[in-house]
Amino acid sequence: MNDINENTHSEKEGQTTNSQQKRHNAQHANTHKDEKRNTYVRKPRPQKTTSHMQDNAAPHSANEHKKRNFKPQFKSESRDMQTTENRKWVGENKHAMRFKKEKYEVEKHEDGTRKIKTPSEKGNLSFHKDLKKGVEANTKIQKGSLNPHHKLNLNTNEKIRITPLGGLGEIGGNMTIIETEKSAIIIDIGMSFPDDSMPGVDILIPDFQYIQSIKNKISAVVITHAHEDHIGAVPYFYKQFQFPLYGTPLALGLVGNKFEEHGLKQHKALFHIVEKRTPVRIGDFEIEWIHITHSIIDSSALAIRTEAGVIIHTGDFKIDHTPIDNLPTDLHRLAYYGEEGVMLLLSDSTNSHKSGVTPSEASVGPTFDNLFKTATGRVIMSTFSSNIHRVYQAITYGLKHNRKVAVIGRSMEKNLDIARELGYIDLPSNAFIEAHEVLQYPDNEVLIVTTGSQGETMSALYRMATDEHRHIKIKPTDMVILSAKAIPGNEGSVSAVINLIMKAGAKVAYQDFSEIHVSGHAAQEEQKLMLRLIKPKFFLPVHGEYNHIAKHKQTAIACGVLEKNIYLMEDGDQIEVNPNYMRKVKSVRTGKSFVDNQANRHIENDVINERNLLANDGIFILTLRMDMQKRKILEHRVNVFGIVGQKEEAELSKFIMENINMYLSNAKPNIFKDTKSLENDLFSALRKLLFKRFKKYPAILVNVLFDGEVRHKAAQNKVIPIDETEQDKTIESIS
Ligand SMILES: [Zn+2]
Repeated sequence: MNDINENTHSEKEGQTTNSQQKRHNAQHANTHKDEKRNTYVRKPRPQKTTSHMQDNAAPHSANEHKKRNFKPQFKSESRDMQTTENRKWVGENKHAMRFKKEKYEVEKHEDGTRKIKTPSEKGNLSFHKDLKKGVEANTKIQKGSLNPHHKLNLNTNEKIRITPLGGLGEIGGNMTIIETEKSAIIIDIGMSFPDDSMPGVDILIPDFQYIQSIKNKISAVVITHAHEDHIGAVPYFYKQFQFPLYGTPLALGLVGNKFEEHGLKQHKALFHIVEKRTPVRIGDFEIEWIHITHSIIDSSALAIRTEAGVIIHTGDFKIDHTPIDNLPTDLHRLAYYGEEGVMLLLSDSTNSHKSGVTPSEASVGPTFDNLFKTATGRVIMSTFSSNIHRVYQAITYGLKHNRKVAVIGRSMEKNLDIARELGYIDLPSNAFIEAHEVLQYPDNEVLIVTTGSQGETMSALYRMATDEHRHIKIKPTDMVILSAKAIPGNEGSVSAVINLIMKAGAKVAYQDFSEIHVSGHAAQEEQKLMLRLIKPKFFLPVHGEYNHIAKHKQTAIACGVLEKNIYLMEDGDQIEVNPNYMRKVKSVRTGKSFVDNQANRHIENDVINERNLLANDGIFILTLRMDMQKRKILEHRVNVFGIVGQKEEAELSKFIMENINMYLSNAKPNIFKDTKSLENDLFSALRKLLFKRFKKYPAILVNVLFDGEVRHKAAQNKVIPIDETEQDKTIESIS
């Protein structure tokens, strides 16, 4: 045994099997309560071995501790891997020695494999018994490897709190807080899109109220990847709070661009560029960015080591074995943590309803190739500007078919520039032409790569289709490839732009080609692979509406996660996790702030409510000038918008004034005591009257001016005084 342990000591962390065995042993020695479940190593050992292992528990723990206080171990490891001096043949040491002991000699060979005890027996009874024992032993070992939760430190009182402030009950707007007692990190600060109930709103950003309440313990913002629904709200956040910001180069590059647009350039000093496979100590956490494939390059999952246990947050992911840059998902690091024992997994639920596997990004290439082959005129390809690999593929096939490339659309140009500058992709500069040069080339030598695949009316494609683009107009010989899928809610606008292009006579290649677009999110089989690799004790499906996370829950149960260990969160739920339990402890305030992107301005909730009221029910404005003494209306004006057509206005005005006059003549004297109370009373009367007639509650504005007070009141209420010389048909004197 001594030899074995010395061997394992001398080996580096990279020797996965041994180092994990070592950790396993050490932890096991410390947790007797797990004896029963730990069938993998412990059961067959003689007593002596156990005591030896306990002796060795301390050095292992020390090593564990060193690991937590991270050193960049993977760099030195790669050097060590080249010298074979310390490396051992895995099968030669630990198993070999362990089974030499007395009573096992009958059942096992020296190398640890099981013997057939009576090879020359009559019949096969004993032979089958020996085989069966082998099956039982293997099953035990396999089952033991499925749930490595005995490796969690069940004795710890440490707990972690998880609070999503966005990204649940919705697609987009992702933002999650992970907290210990003393420190906290924010994972992603994304934006989402408004729906029809938010007129004049461009983007939505999470409510930051909760951050305000814990701001003193926030150590950093960490970014998984550079999609807008993960970084779009970062500049708005940094206008309020400034914390260190950690991310991979593309994410920081794109956040940096936003900071410049928002006048936050100086905050780039807070950026920390991370390296994958290299954990970083941030507050109470040690975080490793793990490479993952997705529809934007340089995406990551996060392994977050805490005193309570390891948390894996997948970010957005798919498992693409043939990505364009040949950098597949780092399954080995995910498996590494899985084998170590993961307390909690948070995983992407976007495509939970899709069975099978999301096809590789590479599968789009041949579709492009075929379309380019058949195109006789210009090819116009539109996709998400952040999908650099899609753009890269289109350009590569364009070049193959001898076409020059015009990149049109601000975000597309910007993203491609940054990807080329940072060296993510390599394209020759002479491949590109400017939009105004397109006309100088024959149609069959032009590829236009552009934005607008969601039918956005401001986009280049839309303007080309409506003849509003300065240089390009869609013509019948064009082939337009929409390499995208409508984001839920955008179906109408995508259909509208397709109609426009087809009316212009051009060919449109959209969803009728199955592999013209592939998703960036994991389908069920990939979600299963993630669950099986990580083998989490607790599971929180994230990124999706309730039906998406509920479906992901079913997938997780099928992959061995206990139902009681899964919680379906909503934004604002605060979940507490310890290796022994997971529970919701409270709700914090969440919501959305509305942003007018043109002016980079917040819009208050009231404004949106008012806009909706105006849009749905219209507005009714009554202005009265009154003789206070005689309680008589001297003059009135009725204005309506969105209630009746122009022709009916006079009739409505007459109807209202008859009723108002009747109301005033029957009213108690005290309603005339001041303009405010009269306005309030008239408001209530009008509300009833209008509802009776229209079954709607339009916005009602009542201004009463007592004679002799006109100027004074006008200044107070910002009501334009009625100028008697400007009477029009809506003003009728009734006095
Ligand atoms: Zn994403």
